[in-house]
Amino acid sequence: MSREYIIPVFIPHAGCKKICVFCNEYSATGIRKKPDENNLNDIFNRYIEYFPENVNPYIAFYGATFTGMDIELMKFYLNWAEEKIKNGLAYGIRFSTSPEEITEKKMNVLKNYTINFIEIGIQSFYEDIIKAANRPHDLNNVWNAIELLEKYDFDYGIHLMTGLPKSSYYKDLNSAVIATFIGAKSVRIHPTVILKNSTLEKMYKNKEYTPETLDEAVEKVAKMTEIIEANDKKVIRLGICLYGKERENVVAGPYHDSFGDLVRSKIARDIIETFAKDKLIVPMQYKANFIGFKKSNKELLEHSNIEFHNGSKFLLNNIELKYADILKILLNQNFIL
Ligand code: SF4
Repeated sequence: MSREYIIPVFIPHAGCKKICVFCNEYSATGIRKKPDENNLNDIFNRYIEYFPENVNPYIAFYGATFTGMDIELMKFYLNWAEEKIKNGLAYGIRFSTSPEEITEKKMNVLKNYTINFIEIGIQSFYEDIIKAANRPHDLNNVWNAIELLEKYDFDYGIHLMTGLPKSSYYKDLNSAVIATFIGAKSVRIHPTVILKNSTLEKMYKNKEYTPETLDEAVEKVAKMTEIIEANDKKVIRLGICLYGKERENVVAGPYHDSFGDLVRSKIARDIIETFAKDKLIVPMQYKANFIGFKKSNKELLEHSNIEFHNGSKFLLNNIELKYADILKILLNQNFIL
């Protein structure tokens, strides 16, 4: 798969009608004001200089409820990005938003732009979790948004979180199961991390909220990823993305710089353990995950019958299988699917 190049533009909390308990975009990004045209061009040029020549990047608006902004402000950002696309400098536009701000009126504006991907923050398919997180939407808004995105034929992904107030192991796993039934192209998952100056920080200090441990979060997110990828959907960007000194704004919770690698190592470990008595040949592209983060699976791998090859398919006892098939067998054996 060729690498995608993304120019992230953060517009902290623009369009947010409520502030979610886990969120503080100022702490997460270190950015306090909405970028104006000069800022936008500076950000764009900085990334273009850093990227290899002749790549066609996506412009992505993050940290906001993009379609919750005043329509004129939303159009200002869209027009700026569309201009770059018209001039052959960018490939398309992406943004994240909240489901209640996906409406027929806004779809009619968006359809005039080169939108390649919309991420909707759902966080959970449980009403009590959404409410306890102070999300600005309910489940009706989620189903409406999905219907509209599919009607207008936009590629979209959803964002899920684990360990929110009122969540449990099986509620979070069930959200992953429901995600497999909708038309989302991909799912992003991150465990709840307590950020400085968020409502959750107060709840944590008042002993009203206990975060997951890192091990719990890795185990749960790995299982959710197995469920989603067993159904041929992609899980992208595991874990919360924090850069530079913004990492110092983590008060508590399962934050790890290499959270995605920990999850991929855990999934590989589950595969090694499940197929311990079989003859399994694994495509080389998965080898690093099988060895594990900091070689955590190396010993287990050395005591298994697993081998690697240059083909693109898995071979289980001489039968060719896709990665999704391997995960399906794994989940069946663990009574999850
Ligand atoms: S999670 Fe999204 S909707 Fe909630 S406060 Fe943060 S940016 Fe706004």
